Amino acid sequence: MKTLAIIGGGAAGLAAAVAAGEAARDAAAPVRVVVYEADERVGRSILATGNGRCNFSNTRISPKLYRNAPFVEEALRHFEGAASMRVPSQAREATASVHGVLAFFSDHGLAWREESEGRLYPLANKATSVLDCLRAAAAAAGVQVRGECEVVTVEPPRCPGAPFTMRLADGRFERADAVIVAVGGSIARRLMPEGVPWVAPAPTLGPVACDSPWPRRLDNIRVRGALELWRPGGAPADARYRDMLDRLGHEPENHGHERLVSREVGEVMFRKYGVSGIAAFNLSRLMQPGDELALDFLPTVPAREAEAYLLRRRNLLRQALGTPISADDLLRGMVLAPVAEVLLRAANLEGAEAASDEAVARLAVPLKGLRLPVAGLGDARQCQVHRGGVACEAVSPRTGELREVAGLYVVGEALDVDAPCGGYNLHWAWASGLSAGWSAVSALAHGVAEEAEGAAR
Ligand SMILES: Cc1cc2nc3c(=O)[nH]c(=O)nc-3n(C[C@H](O)[C@H](O)[C@H](O)COP(=O)(O)OP(=O)(O)OC[C@H]3O[C@@H](n4cnc5c(N)ncnc54)[C@H](O)[C@@H]3O)c2cc1C
Repeated sequence: MKTLAIIGGGAAGLAAAVAAGEAARDAAAPVRVVVYEADERVGRSILATGNGRCNFSNTRISPKLYRNAPFVEEALRHFEGAASMRVPSQAREATASVHGVLAFFSDHGLAWREESEGRLYPLANKATSVLDCLRAAAAAAGVQVRGECEVVTVEPPRCPGAPFTMRLADGRFERADAVIVAVGGSIARRLMPEGVPWVAPAPTLGPVACDSPWPRRLDNIRVRGALELWRPGGAPADARYRDMLDRLGHEPENHGHERLVSREVGEVMFRKYGVSGIAAFNLSRLMQPGDELALDFLPTVPAREAEAYLLRRRNLLRQALGTPISADDLLRGMVLAPVAEVLLRAANLEGAEAASDEAVARLAVPLKGLRLPVAGLGDARQCQVHRGGVACEAVSPRTGELREVAGLYVVGEALDVDAPCGGYNLHWAWASGLSAGWSAVSALAHGVAEEAEGAAR
């Protein structure tokens, strides 16, 4: 009997355990699958996702969204190929666009629904649905789960055919013929042999701290708008970039000294230190020192038309109210009062001042882009993922196996792969976990067959 040890019972580890347990059972391979989980119970990290609702995948998966996209592209392509053979799924018959992760969950009983931008949530709207399906599938496949079992080191085999040696936090040693490391973002290095290429982990996908007085004044206020990330330095001269600026109504000559890195439309939540919400989280993955955020409170009006839009609004109000219009009047009903106060200050205007043509031109600037210089991450504890981990070049994208250490696999966030909000990070955890689980059992079963052949000769 061979042993496959899976270190970490989070999203990637549980997916790997179910895949491995089922593959061993279906092939009648003598492989025992054991999950070592530091926490009392497996899957706690899944329960915290999507505000307890678990945005577990997305219908619009694209490798381009991920860090190390070429690696992810090959990994996902291979995963889909393997899943199309291993996961029969009736869901595929119903919808041709069902991908391997959905087929896997469908076959294990999960029902889901789609929300905006292709985000997928369990139908019951609770992360427990996802975890319940995984735990039941692991139990049915004969997977052994060891809670409160932290692995502190993994020593590779000293000679071919010898097992890996794992040291547990309580000082005991255990052996395994193959190991899948699925411990999440920050600590995989401890479990890696010397010399495995590694990218220092840093929390990301979190709130952004800003070097500006405005967030403190707007603390706890939510607005719907567009958040843009601008980087100092020359703008690219290429036509595609100029087209994009043009579509947004930005005049290239106003932005010659900077470059638009990305733009996110959605809810922005002010915190004392800066901004939070999905738009800010997504830009936090891309930001660098020196960058500035610009919050567009009027995302449906192109930048070059904002001044004319405000002038029309002023003239209409003047007609309707029959009185001269102040800057306060112009903003009332369009933005919340505390936001109006900040916009007036940013434009260096008093609220009672007449909304003259010049005042309107000044107001249009912060309304279409309130500048918030980036100071760094707002609160690392709120970050959803770690950038960094085991470098992608160290592992095979098809299996997750280390190129230099046969039988040792790395999956999920332990690899240097991350993506924006939207279910993409969990999708990666499931897909990489499933691929590694299938591959590890197939390699172990092959080894058993070779040993039997050798003994027979
Ligand atoms: C608050 C929050 C909300 C999120 N929401 C979403 C969302 O809605 N959609 C989405 O796609 N992504 C979301 N993410 C990101 C997503 O949770 C991660 O990308 C994903 O969980 C990574 O899976 P993983 O298995 O690699 O790591 P984890 O899920 O972190 O699992 C690692 C497991 O390993 C265990 N472990 C660690 N060290 C050891 C050790 N030495 N020995 C034994 N066990 C160990 C841990 O206890 C844990 O159970 C969210 C993240 C957070 C923090």
